[in-house]
Amino acid sequence: MSKFTSKRLAAMVPYVPGEQPRERKYIKLNTNESPFPPREAVTEAAKAAAGTCHLYCDPEVTALTAALAERYGVQPENVLITNGSDEILNFFFMAFCDEESGVSYPDISYGFYSVFAGLYHLPAKEIPLDDELRIRVEDWLDRDTNLVFANPNAPTGRYLPPAEVERIVATNRNRIVVVDEAYIDFGGETVAPLIKKYDNLLVTGTFSKSRALAGGRVGFGIADAAMIGELKQIKYSTNPYNVNSVSAAMALAALREDEVYMDRCHTVMENRAYTTKALEALGFAVIPSMANFVFAKSERIGGEALYLALKERGILVRHFKNPRIKDYNRITIGTREQMDALLEAVNEILKEV
Ligand code: PMP
Repeated sequence: MSKFTSKRLAAMVPYVPGEQPRERKYIKLNTNESPFPPREAVTEAAKAAAGTCHLYCDPEVTALTAALAERYGVQPENVLITNGSDEILNFFFMAFCDEESGVSYPDISYGFYSVFAGLYHLPAKEIPLDDELRIRVEDWLDRDTNLVFANPNAPTGRYLPPAEVERIVATNRNRIVVVDEAYIDFGGETVAPLIKKYDNLLVTGTFSKSRALAGGRVGFGIADAAMIGELKQIKYSTNPYNVNSVSAAMALAALREDEVYMDRCHTVMENRAYTTKALEALGFAVIPSMANFVFAKSERIGGEALYLALKERGILVRHFKNPRIKDYNRITIGTREQMDALLEAVNEILKEV
């Protein structure tokens, strides 16, 4: 702690991102990236945009906003593009969460929710998942705080169908319900169209997973125009040029080939089914996942021990120390070759225990 540390800083518990090691080449199955690189049209668009970088980027991100609105069947005023979806989540916490509104999220979910709640000193409630790590919808009806959850949830991969999400949104009309759809393209159905019916719904999404742009940092929010307008106030008060020209051009090029990207999601879903079956054959309990990862545990080896043994063999997965989920590992679904390498390593490790 330096002599300049403020009370706020001292009280902060920062988010810990998954490992991004540079010292050794790992098979990276720890941060839910796409195993496929961006398409050529995307890298070409990046090159072209780089040539314009002596000028500031478009603060309205006009072309991408229009294309995304069309893709989700809403109007441009319903869309805000951000620097990854972490930023739209931050904007939501900054704009709408305070002492009076509070905020609630599942006890097991994306770690950033509690980090933001701490950063902004919010009265926060964790709503427990059930014993099978499912959201119990009844616990989410008629609440007295803003609500945020990921669907599919992370790190479990569990998915709530749109009708269930709508029940939550419909019974909390005086509070905002954020549905974080970072992983929706791997078999789920977006609830974005519901923003026309509910002015308390904010749907967030990202180009980091299904559209292979994690390093490009492009995310978005879809909501009623009034809510988007207020979120924009935060954007213009913090970082008006939050989406740089190169990233915006890459995202637009990716969206123009959306069918190809959605096809790739199907490949990931096939590999997910393959991996689930193979892990189950090795005795793992695997939570049914609608995301580009699976959450699995084995009675034969502890979660952390498996994580470390895989790391030694050059394979990274994600282990969380939270006691409720410490027996599990979250394994990103990659190519068939990557999954075969993982399964072979797991098999070897289990033979040694
Ligand atoms: N929401 C969830 C549930 C996530 O797992 C992630 C990825 N860490 C994000 C949001 C943020 O992703 P990004 O900022 O790359 O869009």
